[in-house]
Order: sequence, then structure tokens, then C-alpha cells
Amino acid sequence: MEEDLGPGVKDTLCDTCAIQLDRVSQITDLTDRETELLNQPNRSVNANIPVRMDDGEIEVFSSFRVQYNNGRGPTKGGIRYHPGVDVSEVKELAFLMTLKCAVANIPFGGAKGGVQVDPDRLSAGELERLSREYVKAFYSDIGPRTDIPAPDVNTDGRIMAWMRDEYESISGHQAPGVITGKPVDFDGSEAREYATSLGGAVILDEFVAESKIQPKESKVAIQGFGNVGSNLAVFLNGRGYDIVAVSNAAGGIYDSSGINVSQLFDSYESSEDLFAFGSKRISNAELLTLDVDVLIPAAIEDQITMDNVEQVRANVILEMANGPTTPKGDEYLAANDVSVLPDILANAGGVTASYFEWVQNTTNEYWSEKRVRDKLTTHMQEAFADVQSRKSSSEHVGTWREAAYLDSIESVLQAERYRGNATE
Ligand code: NAD
Repeated sequence: MEEDLGPGVKDTLCDTCAIQLDRVSQITDLTDRETELLNQPNRSVNANIPVRMDDGEIEVFSSFRVQYNNGRGPTKGGIRYHPGVDVSEVKELAFLMTLKCAVANIPFGGAKGGVQVDPDRLSAGELERLSREYVKAFYSDIGPRTDIPAPDVNTDGRIMAWMRDEYESISGHQAPGVITGKPVDFDGSEAREYATSLGGAVILDEFVAESKIQPKESKVAIQGFGNVGSNLAVFLNGRGYDIVAVSNAAGGIYDSSGINVSQLFDSYESSEDLFAFGSKRISNAELLTLDVDVLIPAAIEDQITMDNVEQVRANVILEMANGPTTPKGDEYLAANDVSVLPDILANAGGVTASYFEWVQNTTNEYWSEKRVRDKLTTHMQEAFADVQSRKSSSEHVGTWREAAYLDSIESVLQAERYRGNATE
């Protein structure tokens, strides 16, 4: 059933990652071996998973697990349920996870998983059987010391709980550290729910401390009012920023004098409709070009492109979504002195809290919410300082993204050199 695509597989890295890697190799001399090592995953496995549906029929789902690089530790990365997911997308996300874990200074490599499925058309029973079959198919690939999955698009704590249980049923022993993002009362971690947003707020704090930005005089627009965007709105509003616009897939709302975030939460919770709040309606395209100080894409990829980048008026972009800026858009922003705090740094708070969950599972000692928040804050501050020092260390490093890529790639390569997999 399983086909090991293996290290020899010729499936080139996604365009965006390849362009970023190419930029790094122009700044720092990578050997051919180092480039080859970064261009290919260690391991890419796929499986066709049979699932018995409620009507008794068997349906088969294409599934993937890519372990990109384990030089720095066991690989780590979420499992995505989406009809459009394919091996190239999983590979790109696994590459980004490798860099993100290195930027965040957590002892993990990068991985990602996916199942080609529209989960909305599955019953709860079908979803559970699919999730358990995924673990059966990849049982020998994952483990607390080898490869640790987590939630991603359309997967959640309930699915992680089924997966943990399936893994333990097969292995015959308790192994909470096989997966993170579990419910807090099922060996999950306090604060994991909002850790990505808290991490993003800390990165912005650190950047602002070195800039002329005054939070109390600054306007922020956030694209995406899901887990990440909504929690970040609360953290930033608490620091004095005016949140003037937020959006979801249906569109956005705008109030130039600042949205009352706690009232918006109450309204959204009861109506599940952003527009019920009553502020002026705007489109997602309009949100991205508002006259704000900080723009925060926190929804999906490829939002700031050559089609709209000339109209972007923010001076700072905090990338909470993965890959929201295309390489050409990024080039334009760099040329126009817009500071882009890149995804692998800005949204690394989530995987850092996942690491904390794994540490708690491994030591069997569970931490308070305050302890997780404090450790996360320190960790993100240190990650920012590392990237900042990389940025100021060379005149060839122009952007925060280049600095974050350089920092993480150097860390991955150093581990590979110690292992004898790359030249000294
Ligand atoms: P979510 O599903 O909770 O929220 C996504 C939000 O984006 C929703 O408000 C949705 O309506 C909106 N959206 C979807 N399509 C859109 C479109 N075409 N235009 C505008 N808005 C659209 O997801 P999330 O967990 O908040 O994640 C948001 C982003 O952050 C994703 O890119 C995700 O990969 C990234 N991220 C999340 C985490 C995490 O811990 N949740 C960690 C790292 C990165």
C-alpha cells in the first residue's frame, strides 16, 4: 500500500522556497552538496488509505507525510485535511517547518502531512476512521523521537486525540508525545490555543522597540479573523494599537477610529457573522491596501502580490499566515523599505508551544498557563534577537526574511556538518 518516494525522488522544491533559497545562496556561499541537501526532503512517503464510509462502501484517500530534515531533531509538523493538498504542497510546508523550528531554536526538524479530503462531507465516524487509518498507514514513520505530527488546516484537538489513541493501541504503551495540539485535559499544553498569536505580538513588540512606531498612535488591519487573527487582535488592542479592520473569507469590516475588539468578539460569537457588528463593510482586497501602520495577513497564502503590492500603504507587515507574500511582492516591498517580519519568525509561537507540550509529555511534568506564556515570550524574544543580529551582521543581508532564512539555514547545515552529511 505504501510507496516510499525516497530521497532520490525528483520533485523540485516549490517556486517560492526555491527563490528564497537562491537568494540565500547569493548572500552566503552554499556548496553544491549543501544546496542539494536543502533542496530535497530526507523522506517522502505516501499511502492510499481505505476508509469504510457510513453507507458501507470503501473510499480511498491519498495521504502524505514528508519528513524534510531531521538534522536538528525529530521532525515536527501538522497534518492538513484538504481536497487540494498534494505532495508538492506538503513538501513546501515541511521545508518551511524545518526553517521555522531552526529560527525558533527548538530542537526539532521539519515535516508535514496531508490527506486529500473535504472533511466537511464526512460524518464524525468517518472522520475518526480516516484519522485512525492515517496513523495505521504511517505508524512506522511517526513517533515521539522520530516525527511528531500536530493539527493544521481542518484538523484539531479531537483528531489529535484519536490519532494518539490509535498510535498507543498499536504500540501497546502510552505515548502522549507522539502528537501535539491535544486537548489540554488530554496531555495538551496550556496556552497552545493562542500561542501563535502571542508569539506574533512579541515579535512585533521587539520590532517596535527598535523603531519609531508608537503602539498607541498606530493603526492595524488584520486579514483573517480565525484562531490566529482574532487572538492577535486582542493582544495588540491590549498594547494600545487601534485595530481598524478585520476580515474573514466573506469580506471585512472597517472603522477608522478603531474597532471595539471585545464587543466584536461578543457579536461574532453570538452571530458568527462579522457584518452583524455594523461597521463599514470592505472587501479583503481593500483591507490589504488600507492606510494603516501595520498590516497583518493572517488568513491564507499569496495575498500580497504584484497585482496589489503597489497599493499597500503599511510600513510594517507581520506575516502570521504561511506564505502570504509572493517573491515578487516581497521584492517590491524590500525596494520600498517596507519591513516584512516573515512567517517563519512571526508565526513560530505555535510550534514553540507544541515543543513545550512535547517537553511536558516527555517529562510528565505539567506547567501552568503563566509558565508557558513566560517561556514562550522569552523564546520569541531570543528568536527575534538572533535574526536581528544576523540582519545587522552583514551588509548583504537586506531584509528580515533574508536574515531569518540565513539564520535557520546555517543552523540546519551546522547540524548536518556535525553529522557528516555536509562538508565542513
Ligand atoms: P482559521 O481557519 O482559524 O482562520 C482562518 C481565517 O482566514 C478565517 O477567518 C477565514 O474566514 C479566513 N479566510 C479564509 N480564506 C480567506 C480568504 N480567501 N480571504 C480572506 N480571509 C480568508 O486558521 P488559523 O489557525 O487562524 O490560521 C491562519 C493562518 O495562520 C494560516 O495561514 C495558518 O497556516 C497560519 N498559522 C496558523 C498557526 C496556528 O497555530 N493556528 C500556526 C502557524 C501558522
